[in-house]
Amino acid sequence: PEATPVESEPVNNLRSPICCILGHVDTGKTKLLDNLRRSHVQEGEAGGITQQIGATYFPIESIKQKTKPVNKKGKLEFNIPGLLIIDTPGHESFTNLRSRGTSLCNIAILVIDIMHGLEPQTMESIRLLRDNKTPFVVALNKVDRLYGWHSIKENGFQDSLLKQKKAIQREFRDRVDSIILQLNEQGLNAALYFENKQMGRYVSLVPTSAQSGEGVPDLVALLVALTQTRMSDRIKYISTLECTVLEVKVVEGLGATIDVILSNGVLREGDRIVICGMGGPIITTVRALLTPQPMKEMRVKSAYVHHKEIRAAMGVKVCANDLEKAVAGSRLLVVGPEDDEEELADELMADLEDLLGSIDTSGVGVSVQASTLGSLEALLEFLKQMKIPVASVNIGPVYKKDVMKCATMLEKAKEYALLLCFDVKVDHDAEALADQLGIKVFSANVIYHLFDAFTAHQNKIMEQKREENSDVAVFPCVLKTIAAFNKRDPIILGVDVVDGVLRKGTPIVSVKNVPGEEPQIIELGRVVSLEMNHKPVERVKKGQAGGGVAMKLEAGGGSQILFGRHVTESDTLYSHITRESINALKDPAFRNEVHRDEWQLIIQLKKVFGII
Ligand code: GDP
Repeated sequence: PEATPVESEPVNNLRSPICCILGHVDTGKTKLLDNLRRSHVQEGEAGGITQQIGATYFPIESIKQKTKPVNKKGKLEFNIPGLLIIDTPGHESFTNLRSRGTSLCNIAILVIDIMHGLEPQTMESIRLLRDNKTPFVVALNKVDRLYGWHSIKENGFQDSLLKQKKAIQREFRDRVDSIILQLNEQGLNAALYFENKQMGRYVSLVPTSAQSGEGVPDLVALLVALTQTRMSDRIKYISTLECTVLEVKVVEGLGATIDVILSNGVLREGDRIVICGMGGPIITTVRALLTPQPMKEMRVKSAYVHHKEIRAAMGVKVCANDLEKAVAGSRLLVVGPEDDEEELADELMADLEDLLGSIDTSGVGVSVQASTLGSLEALLEFLKQMKIPVASVNIGPVYKKDVMKCATMLEKAKEYALLLCFDVKVDHDAEALADQLGIKVFSANVIYHLFDAFTAHQNKIMEQKREENSDVAVFPCVLKTIAAFNKRDPIILGVDVVDGVLRKGTPIVSVKNVPGEEPQIIELGRVVSLEMNHKPVERVKKGQAGGGVAMKLEAGGGSQILFGRHVTESDTLYSHITRESINALKDPAFRNEVHRDEWQLIIQLKKVFGII
């Protein structure tokens, strides 16, 4: 059965703007979307809100209904055909999608909990919006939580505010001022939308309650006004196809399908299409274009409505062969009569290759896995800033093969044998394998959480490494004997630290240099305890032990060294530096602990020990 397309024709040559909702977890993104979806007009009826693939479509009739409380005099103009809101709130990966340099998301709603102010993910969202030059408004949500707030359902915000007690109005103002200040600190000018005289320079704040619906009419009216007046050139309807893969999904009976957002142009059944694939470009033919069955048609067997063609802006499911390895976030191109398939494929693959090009797969680094091209790009950019090396990347859920690939790092650099997963599922078997191989899998939907987990993990590995190598890693020091308290193993000496740092665990030696011969090294034993002013200490720096430090050395193994005969008080003592000990100190686990002066001293001691 063929149904007519459900979207409306372009109006005034404008298409429907695409809107994303983002912000910190629990600020009310989902509830806000739910409130927006609540409508007086039934789905499927003319003017009704329609559920699409990955998005909800609000035709202009439903928007007119929604904005009634703030448009009593009918002054608002409605020039756009409708509004397409992406369904997965907080889908940073979508906000980060770009097509030919401009963000696919035309306008965004950044949700901030008015009771909490800015939270970590708010900052991340702001960064993303700014990087992509995406215009946005702020919903200051949960105003009904202000103590003593009296809700008037679905009301315009200003009217609701006027009806509150003075104390509540004051508290509201205080909270808004504080949030404006916090936004200033992030480099953003902001003002309540009804006090904002410079929409181009100040971000508008719309107080809302997803619970009572207050302020939602204001929010919708502002979105309409902003998209119409300030960005009409960005939402011009053009026949050039602009289409992006949101998600790759396996559907029973359909196989691998792609959910796409068609932001401009027309997509038709039978179109030859090109998309990015993980193993190379995918060139295939559209077998079916599907949207969900309207709610009232649920009796119908099929869950989907088929379309011969679909016009932007729309969320659509595309069925075709060979979609298994499609990359979420990829652009989708249609091969026109004049086009060369291969050329289009090259152009598309460049998006992915640009990203992969910055990765040194032969070096050491972490493995990274993200949900889409967009989220991968955001994550890679962040890791670059944090100076975390990346050796391998992938897009999509984590499977066993990804863990296997990561496992090659266990031998090269154990501290990097880990998977940072951003906004992706980890397959059960993959998790079990990682456990078995000792590969850490960090999974998060917030980039900075991944970073924190990585840093904590790395510190732990370094600590382990330091413990394991504490025998080999010898810090340089030079000692002068002041007194000998016990001359046989365990030798106990009073010493002065002439240079470097004397630490517990360090092997102490004396070196006899006869010109023309190899230096003769006499081992006195390892430092088992250090005492300064009768108090045990872990380490003593040069010049620190004014009255000297008592050092106890244990050689073990029936050492016959006698202090006073084989080594005397006039002999300089050193920590035992070798080629291995120097290498151990160069390892990342120790490198940061070795002071510049100590490297200088090591260079001097290399001569003493005859290390070339
Ligand atoms: P998300 O993580 O940003 O999608 O947040 P949700 O929409 O899941 O909301 C998180 C919690 O806050 C839920 O318990 C909601 O019921 C509640 N909530 C969301 N918006 C409001 C609001 O405006 N007022 C009140 N009182 N609660 C809200």
